[in-house]
Amino acid sequence: MGFLDYAPAPESTSILNLKKSYGLFIGGEFVEGRGSSFATISPSSEETIALVAEASDADIDDAVKAARGALTKTWSKMPGSERGKYLFRIARIIQERSRELAVAESLDNGKPIRETRDVDIPLVAAWFFYYAGWADKLEYAGLGQNPQALGVAAQVIPWNFPLLMLAWKIAPALAAGNTVVLKPAETTPLTALLFAEICQQAELPSGVVNIVTGAGATGAALVSHPDINKVAFTGSTAVGRNIAASLAGSDTRLTLELGGKGANIIFDDAAIDQAIEGIISGIFFNQGHVCCAGSRLLVQENIHDDVMNRLQSRLSTLRLGDPLDKNTDIGAVNSKAQLERITEIANSGDSEGATRWTASCDIPAQGFWFPPTVFTNVQTSHRIARDEIFGPVLSVLTFRTAEEAIAKANNTPYGLSAGIWTEKASRMLAIADKLRAGVIWANTFNKFDPASPFGGYQESGYGREGGRHGLAAYLEGGSWKGGAK
Ligand code: NAD
Repeated sequence: MGFLDYAPAPESTSILNLKKSYGLFIGGEFVEGRGSSFATISPSSEETIALVAEASDADIDDAVKAARGALTKTWSKMPGSERGKYLFRIARIIQERSRELAVAESLDNGKPIRETRDVDIPLVAAWFFYYAGWADKLEYAGLGQNPQALGVAAQVIPWNFPLLMLAWKIAPALAAGNTVVLKPAETTPLTALLFAEICQQAELPSGVVNIVTGAGATGAALVSHPDINKVAFTGSTAVGRNIAASLAGSDTRLTLELGGKGANIIFDDAAIDQAIEGIISGIFFNQGHVCCAGSRLLVQENIHDDVMNRLQSRLSTLRLGDPLDKNTDIGAVNSKAQLERITEIANSGDSEGATRWTASCDIPAQGFWFPPTVFTNVQTSHRIARDEIFGPVLSVLTFRTAEEAIAKANNTPYGLSAGIWTEKASRMLAIADKLRAGVIWANTFNKFDPASPFGGYQESGYGREGGRHGLAAYLEGGSWKGGAK
């Protein structure tokens, strides 16, 4: 270690009180389940953290029955002010257990503790506080005098923000008076199971929240269960498309939060050093495992070389390694399968003629890692400019005029996010109006707030999470649909 190097600063795991194996959380209790079990591992060490039950079709049926029973017997009979109290209680327990949840999330997902501690878990608490406040004010949501819950919601979430995606699903559903069965991703079930403990600690009536673990087959069994009123899915466009096809023609309401290929547009009048930080948080935050990542950088041609020089020198200072070390900027890729996918698409960048630059980092011997990577000389036809890589890989394109930037930004089947960097507010507004993306940031990127709706256009899905729109997704009469601007 050199004189000015960072000393290791690992967060202790002693705060965790994990079990060796976890069952399914059904009807307020942990039950064994009838299927087999699987290991959830730490992607940075490849060590097993715990064994987790794989829910069978019969288990899913039990969970849906528990949710239906809770809906009719307790939750729908309770005034909104009482439901709100439970949500406030859950939010406070999340704050009290925030350090433990941050450690568990970093261990199971591979993301840096700096992010789980300062972003994921505070936002999880904020989401529950926000929707707790709505529970007794539903008649002011603009959805009629006496808005009614949809019923039982089946919720399936991905691995990139495990507890935050759980909060985005469960908080509005419960505030609106629904009961839920949620399936976390197979590689990151841990914090959902800790959340089940929090539901017990909050004395939430049994069956209001049910957590079933398992992989794709478990998710498919859940979303196709006949006694479900609502499906909320966050994940890949391919799976979302299958779910939409399978529910077509049924009464089941559906929201889909899918993939993206966000454009981050840098004009030559932007504050360049701030834009560099925005580029980094746009694509290297959470190892690029972000649906709304700014994975396509559009730089005005006359500042391209300056931006690349500054970006590369800033990226060279990022530290990759132990997710539990408080100095770590780039953690582990969540799974071997995801690492293989990132590697394969990045290799297509080489073979299609783009120029690869990689930050020099020491890659640990164990675990799944991919160093921050930037491709220049990218053409819009290249796969790295079209496909969602979902990893720390940035594809850089250039433009000369605002019209060209807009055309290139919109040249995607997705439509989730975009960013604009310029000193001119009039330009920001004019361009934002022409971008086909659900969320547009100006002079910042990847900022989230529970009061602000989030969601996509086209193949990025439909429906909104967050804000009043997020409530509408769980209430009769609130069939907010995405679509063309
Ligand atoms: P995935 O679609 O493979 O898995 C997501 C979830 O769906 C997991 O829980 C998985 O077990 C389950 N699943 C898999 N097959 C299923 C099936 N046939 N029926 C029902 N459930 C099934 O996606 P992933 O690789 O886990 O997540 C990455 C994707 O999620 C990316 O495309 C990303 O953009 C997207 N994502 C979108 C948002 C958003 O808000 N728009 C947020 C996070 C992630």
